[in-house]
Amino acid sequence: MKAASPFSFPVSPALAAKLARLGLHRDADLVLHLPLRWEDETRLTPIRDLLPGQTAQVQATVREASVAYRPRRMLTVSVEDAAGGVLGIRFLNFYPSHLKLFQPGESFRFIGEVRGGFLGLEMVHPRFAKAGADTPLPTQLTPVYPTTAGLGQATLRKLVARALAAPIPDTLPGEWLAELSLPELESSIRLLHQPPLDAALSELESRRHPAWQRLAFDELLAQQLSLTAARQQRRKQRTHPLPALQQLPQAFLAALPFALTAAQARAWTEISADLAHPHPMRRLLQGDVGSGKTVVAALACLQAIENGMQAAFMAPTEILAEQHYRKLAQPLAALGVKSAWVSGSQRKAERNAAWQAIAAGEIDLAFGTHALFQEGGAFARLGLAVVDEQHRFGVGQRLALMQKGSEPHQLMMSATPIPRTLAMGFFADLDVSTIDELPPGRTPIVTKLVSAARRDDVLARVRGACHAGGQAYWVCPLIEESEKLQLQTAQDTYATLTEQLPDLRIGLVHGRMKPDEKQAVMAAFQAHEIDLLVATTVIEVGVDVPNAALMVIEHAERMGLAQLHQLRGRVGRGSRESVCVLLYETPLSELARARLKVIFELVDGFEIARQDLLLRGPGELLGHRQSGLPMLRFADLERDVALLEAARDLAQRCLSHHPDIAARHVERWIGQRQTLASI
Ligand code: ADP
Ligand code: MG
Repeated sequence: MKAASPFSFPVSPALAAKLARLGLHRDADLVLHLPLRWEDETRLTPIRDLLPGQTAQVQATVREASVAYRPRRMLTVSVEDAAGGVLGIRFLNFYPSHLKLFQPGESFRFIGEVRGGFLGLEMVHPRFAKAGADTPLPTQLTPVYPTTAGLGQATLRKLVARALAAPIPDTLPGEWLAELSLPELESSIRLLHQPPLDAALSELESRRHPAWQRLAFDELLAQQLSLTAARQQRRKQRTHPLPALQQLPQAFLAALPFALTAAQARAWTEISADLAHPHPMRRLLQGDVGSGKTVVAALACLQAIENGMQAAFMAPTEILAEQHYRKLAQPLAALGVKSAWVSGSQRKAERNAAWQAIAAGEIDLAFGTHALFQEGGAFARLGLAVVDEQHRFGVGQRLALMQKGSEPHQLMMSATPIPRTLAMGFFADLDVSTIDELPPGRTPIVTKLVSAARRDDVLARVRGACHAGGQAYWVCPLIEESEKLQLQTAQDTYATLTEQLPDLRIGLVHGRMKPDEKQAVMAAFQAHEIDLLVATTVIEVGVDVPNAALMVIEHAERMGLAQLHQLRGRVGRGSRESVCVLLYETPLSELARARLKVIFELVDGFEIARQDLLLRGPGELLGHRQSGLPMLRFADLERDVALLEAARDLAQRCLSHHPDIAARHVERWIGQRQTLASI
């Protein structure tokens, strides 16, 4: 049996598949499939008036068409208009059917850019359609839609026009729109699909036209509604309250060799209060690299444990999970806390034993990778899950984890500070604590930009630092295209450095090593049995070896800002003067130059993230391309901050007082992908 088409008109399965690639699953999606740009096909230009560089439409008759070789095989067509002007048309890619189509005497319209060619004026690959002199011209601008292979503009236009045949009811009441000074939805959408001839194209194209603003607002509102609804939903859920009993955290604090910074203390107070509530906490603890998030997370775990519950401490990599275990298990054991370490590299028997102890409730605190906990065994009574380096996971993964099991409290930590607009846009369902100061006594990291031509100077510096009792990192170039090449590069770098610095103890760590091999190398580095650690970007997050105060990053121009900032954060952890050397290869692209300038000039992660947002746009920054949450198509978080703020306020009012409007709005914008009930 054939499934009913979600479109109100027949669509073949092949066409439906192409539409699906564009995210078009129903009439309403077509209605919101808006043009990239518009072309003016309302006028014809006589050939003799054409100027090179101009985009124009001509009405002309074929004089002759032939396949020429000059030097490439191409189809050349000579056409003439009613006033006797002659124009050359060239197709570099063509089918035999083209030759048949351009029969002498046949009449066409061609639209394209005019060039001063070989034998007079010509158009290369113009768009064309068979048309006689009496074929009516369109009276409106012609939309050009985003499309996909095998789906022509003409087909898309027809489909969109069909979907537009039905009225488009507004989801928002007129008074609200008046208050927001936004135009109606229906007129906005129709205007964008078919702008009148006198529409200001520049305003349309820069997306500052009120019609675009309306769509951007609606999109932001849908996003705010779904996130706010998720948050309200969570507030209604019940979970085990974990009031502050203070014995364990106080004992832990007393044993620390330092006092909390004011910012850490503030974050801890916020978290402690959240845990006492009978609703699951969803708090993001953000703070720059080295700001001391781990201690705060440990305090939260202790509050849970003191209430007789278990806690899970998750990290994105084995190296990091093990480092947390190694650092925390011992001081916590002194307080009577039983910790376990669950690892993919453990022997199966060992891992099973750990899970058994966790399931039996004999373990208070379990450390491991997210992956492991997600495939996970059961906890006897999990009260709190700590998710470290949350930015390494898409927003979708965060939501998925939330929905699992019995809804424990969750504390997420991120060292990639999220600019305020993004935090509002994508983390509206989270509470946020921010650690905005570094512990005292840190010597600032000095960043040096060095051309790869001066590699020898850098080698001398590494040797000097290590001979003086320090340690160093040497980060290998990132090869995004191939993991195999990446490995090769790491091994080559290791071999070269071993040769060039025979007096140093050099280690290598990379992503393809078995977890226990990785751990052995990291442990040796930590114990100062290794002077220089050659590493791929696996050390990007969280690794904490205060004696390592020098980092060299090769091909820094290939790395993103967030990554460079994370890497650089591996040094500057002790009292030694820290240096980060960014080796770059010339020539530099525009973007690479801009990035290196930012990382050289700025140390504040928030400011770097803001610059990153400006350079790259929010999509890449959050990595939500993989996250499953729909990307913003119309709104731009930098340009539309005011709209975002208005959308956030309205979302709150709307959910409390007009849930029907909220539901209708989300359904239109997000559709089956997400409904208010399912998030
Ligand atoms: P991050 O926020 O990047 O996870 P960490 O929690 O790893 O940072 O802390 C970085 C280093 O700072 C650790 O060695 C930690 O022991 C130390 N540290 C944390 N808090 C303080 C503090 N208040 N005073 C001094 N050192 C601290
Ligand atoms: Mg950390």
